[in-house]
Amino acid sequence: MAASNENENENENDLKDLKRRQNEREERTNAMATQSASFAGTRVRANARARARAGTRTVRVHAGLSVDLKGKKAFVAGVADDNGFGWAISKALQEAGCEVILGTWVPALNIFETSYRRGKFDESRKLSDGRMMEFAKIYPMDAVFDTLDDVPEDVATNKRYAGNTKWTVSEVAKCVQEDFGKIDILVHSLANGPEVAKPLLETSRKGYLAAVSASSYSNVSMIQHFGPLMNKGGACISLTYLASEVVIPGYGGGMSSAKAALESDTRVLAYEAGRKWGIRVNTISAGPLGSRAAKAIGFIDKMINYSLTNAPLNEKPLKAIEIGNATAFLCSPLASGITGATIYVDNGLNIMGMAQDSRSTEN
Ligand code: NAD
Repeated sequence: MAASNENENENENDLKDLKRRQNEREERTNAMATQSASFAGTRVRANARARARAGTRTVRVHAGLSVDLKGKKAFVAGVADDNGFGWAISKALQEAGCEVILGTWVPALNIFETSYRRGKFDESRKLSDGRMMEFAKIYPMDAVFDTLDDVPEDVATNKRYAGNTKWTVSEVAKCVQEDFGKIDILVHSLANGPEVAKPLLETSRKGYLAAVSASSYSNVSMIQHFGPLMNKGGACISLTYLASEVVIPGYGGGMSSAKAALESDTRVLAYEAGRKWGIRVNTISAGPLGSRAAKAIGFIDKMINYSLTNAPLNEKPLKAIEIGNATAFLCSPLASGITGATIYVDNGLNIMGMAQDSRSTEN
């Protein structure tokens, strides 16, 4: 009995000891979990202190709030090389996980595809995680024509269009629907003004209407035809320019009028397409970029210099990818409350009322 009592006592003590060790283990595990949870914050604070000592700025990154477009599909119109906004937009959308389908102007398609195949764009196709930007499909497109019935004989038989079919806006939309089903994002990154180098006072009716047709109505047409195949919550973006609202001498041929129409249409289409399909419509007013289209105007380098001297942010010229990143944000659920807006991505140049390098203000 005594022995058995002793045994019982020993067992009890063993059990208590086991429980104590278990509790201690649990406490240690909890402490480690708390420590590792605060470790990231501690490290950020330690880094911040180190940077503060070195006189640099800390950017706090809050995990969980990022532009995520995984599983989304975008149709981007207006890419024919790797210099313009359309290319940078495609890149940013793919960085966010979006699939990108292109619509390329028929006369520019052959050279674009040939250069692409030959690897001319390989360097600028590289994404930040090492992947290469890929297009799900490239369609020939001319945004000046809505249906085959609109195409005049001289265009239909033009050798720059030979070998291509189904390139009017309604036909491209139908092909995209057949090949991909629904899409989520629609990008209009195109413009054309045959008389852009002429002052408005010297612009012909034909030149003026051509600028509005290619640069503004094309956006209306794209939303008309692609709207029905966009998922609810989808977003449309176009690119505009400050010359729509203030005078930029040299941006002629009715292009300033075309951009004014584009911005006004953005508001009306935001209302109509919002009510009809539950999609958002915005436009980005971009600062100057030395793209192929901009070079045709003839003074883009001067505009870039002007911006660099006079914009609030004057450390570097605007990069196309900054417009790309803004587009990815505006097309993401993070911007679900933004529609009908003209968003300036121009280093702030639009807010300036007086040129800093004006000779009139010199002593
Ligand atoms: P870009 O040359 O890269 O893009 C223009 C594209 O339009 C080209 O790919 C061209 O092939 C295409 N295009 C022309 N006519 C077409 C048609 N009928 N159908 C289909 N495609 C057609 O030049 P970008 O400067 O990147 O231009 C993109 C948009 O950005 C345009 O709306 C432009 O007005 C706007 N934007 C440009 C600047 C700038 O400084 N570059 C500034 C503000 C806004």
